[in-house]
Amino acid sequence: QQEYIRKPEWLKTKINTNESYQGIKKMMRENRLNTVCEEARCPNIHECWSERKTATFMILGDTCTRACRFCAVKTGLPNELDWNEPERVADSVAIMGLKHVVVTAVARDDLNDGGAAVFAETVRAIRRKNPGCTIEILPSDMKGDYESLFTLMDSKPDIFNHNIETVSRLTKRVRARATYDRSLQLLKRVKEIAPDTPTKSSIMVGLGETKEEIIQAMDDLLAHNVDIMTIGQYLQPTKKHLSVERYYHPDEFAELKAIALEKGFSHCEAGPLVRSSYHADEQVSASAAQ
Ligand code: SF4
Ligand code: SF4
Repeated sequence: QQEYIRKPEWLKTKINTNESYQGIKKMMRENRLNTVCEEARCPNIHECWSERKTATFMILGDTCTRACRFCAVKTGLPNELDWNEPERVADSVAIMGLKHVVVTAVARDDLNDGGAAVFAETVRAIRRKNPGCTIEILPSDMKGDYESLFTLMDSKPDIFNHNIETVSRLTKRVRARATYDRSLQLLKRVKEIAPDTPTKSSIMVGLGETKEEIIQAMDDLLAHNVDIMTIGQYLQPTKKHLSVERYYHPDEFAELKAIALEKGFSHCEAGPLVRSSYHADEQVSASAAQ
């Protein structure tokens, strides 16, 4: 019998759904677009969409070929590739007046290039229509295929983000098919291809990791030249997903952030509601200022 730990007060937030939010939601449906902000019912949605003008689009369909045990995205036979999706994303970025956009995708292990060509075209289409908007990409590991990585990097994103998600020991339990080392190698390779592009990675805490293991993950990321790290609380999306082992106190996040900065990351966001894309707009300017 699974035992549930009570959610602490600092995680009990209400999603603010004002009129402009409803309008954007409608536009997403009409354009057959998916955002992580909505899919994950992210508590930061009001702040991101309305105040910071940031959003995270999930392209290449709404069905993933993998089934990570923390993730609420559905698994199954993926959608057909849609070459018009890049333009629709670019138009929506313009309508929303975004200043920073994160583009992520489901893992497309069914495609030879993992969807890299459509992904790269999405970056280009956004840039053509939104020259002032910075673009962060958050791809899967593309099965470690370096040609796909070159295709992606050729679109010249402003930030390359790829999440290791958890510490080394728990990777097998938490992520499907991905490995800790392959993700680290991918991040390192990005720096070799584009030394000036900031790289970024995230972990969720609360899955049973120790503080020493988190610190080891920081060292591993730094050893692979990663510039930015984010650390957030894992929240169980449904009862079928991995349960939360522990809720970290905001003070513990503050301590982890201080350790990360001390160790040498150029930027770190850590907090109970921090998501991979949280305050991403600040990270571009922080990296540019270096
Ligand atoms: Fe969307 Fe990321 Fe902001 Fe959440 S933190 S609302 S997922 S951009
Ligand atoms: Fe979710 Fe990404 Fe894992 Fe697919 S690969 S199940 S989208 S975390």
